Amino acid sequence: MKLQQDIDIFAEEIDPEVRESVYGTSKLKISKRADILSKDFEDANVVRKMAGLVKQHTIENLPKYLAQAEESFTRNGVVVHWAADGEEANQIVLDIMKKRNARKVVKSKSMVTEETHLVPFLEKNGMEAVETDLGEYIVQIDGDTPSHIVTPIIHKNRRQVGRSFEREGLGPYSEDPETLTNMARVHLRQKYLDADVGITGANFVVAESGRIAIVTNEGNARFSMAATKTHIAMVGIEKLVPRDEDLGLMLSILSRSSTGQRITVYTQFISGPKVEAQEEGPEEMHVIFLDNGRSDVLASDCREILRCIRCGACLNTCPVYRQTSGHAYRAVYPGPVGSVLSPLINRHGFAPLADLPKASSLCGACQEVCPVNIPIPDLLVRLRNKGKTEEAERASINTPGFGVWAMAASSPSIWKSGLTMGNALNWVPKALLSVEPSARSWQKTRDLPEFKGGDFRAWLKERKRGKQ
Ligand code: SF4
Repeated sequence: MKLQQDIDIFAEEIDPEVRESVYGTSKLKISKRADILSKDFEDANVVRKMAGLVKQHTIENLPKYLAQAEESFTRNGVVVHWAADGEEANQIVLDIMKKRNARKVVKSKSMVTEETHLVPFLEKNGMEAVETDLGEYIVQIDGDTPSHIVTPIIHKNRRQVGRSFEREGLGPYSEDPETLTNMARVHLRQKYLDADVGITGANFVVAESGRIAIVTNEGNARFSMAATKTHIAMVGIEKLVPRDEDLGLMLSILSRSSTGQRITVYTQFISGPKVEAQEEGPEEMHVIFLDNGRSDVLASDCREILRCIRCGACLNTCPVYRQTSGHAYRAVYPGPVGSVLSPLINRHGFAPLADLPKASSLCGACQEVCPVNIPIPDLLVRLRNKGKTEEAERASINTPGFGVWAMAASSPSIWKSGLTMGNALNWVPKALLSVEPSARSWQKTRDLPEFKGGDFRAWLKERKRGKQ
């Protein structure tokens, strides 16, 4: 009840323009998704379940498929790196750039690089890093953060974008989408041509062939790779699928669930740097596999969340997300997927984001639309339990009584004297021992057990003596 009130208050405080943008766009996407799935599949649930099984099989056998992927990439001439966390992944990118005397980067949309805060890191280290996805570019020039995993500026409208472009000198104010897109196109084309390095994520990584699949609706991933000499793909370790033929299923369910399209406009399959016969393309290619807490998720009872293919459908359908927008979740991954994933991979631990699993009415809409059939409501309940258990443990650790007990228990001599003196408690009137009112009422119907401290030690001592 309290949580629902908090959500209502938060939602009321959101700029009405933002609320309208988020609500309208997510509603439109979810209805396009439903239309296309019902037109194209006799039973979309069968397809969702099949895709879920493929991904579940992959994560259950992740070490095997990661080793296979590394072997395949290496065979294709790709350099494979492993990063335990975001800092390590960012440092690998920086080291590659320094080695190539590179200074300029163009980057296509990638949630994993949002997770590692790659662009601010590169800028801090003297590099020029430009987001080339239109939405991400607007987020960058506004000093904002994405509020949706597929549509980063779902919280903005074209009037706000027009004002940002005018401020940045891209052209005179306009709110015509085509004019705005052209302004960005002219500006970004030159950035591609000037860049030394192209950075992408990957929607899928195929273990058997060492091929990555990237989908965009703007072609910016293709430009980022084609125009630069070095291509770096940073990917989460869960992005694998075993075989090339799995891509057919995955790509078709991804685009339909995400934007209601049969296929995303640009679909790139990349299996290495350019070969001699190719005139253009990167001369070297690196793949950075990022863990960043995913191994721990894999070992947990919420491992199903690693099936996620980042389609954003659960955000679009979630009544809480639609009201509050993505920034309310205080994490890179918002919405139902974020309520599970963000607290689990948070570098400051579970506790700071333990409230997120409660930001759900558990209506089940997220699971119904999920293309890989993740039981999100079940996972949310498991995480609520986890939060409650951890909270209770913290509370007991923080009570003064527990502190005294911990001190005594960690010192053998104090512990021994306590056991000896503890026997004296049996002679103290019971009523005097109950200082807490609740303990007093508890004792009205129960007796305190007799203190037997020290008996075991005395027995052991006797036994040892007997054996000598
Ligand atoms: S949890 Fe499912 S619906 Fe949500 S983003 Fe991931 S794949 Fe899409």
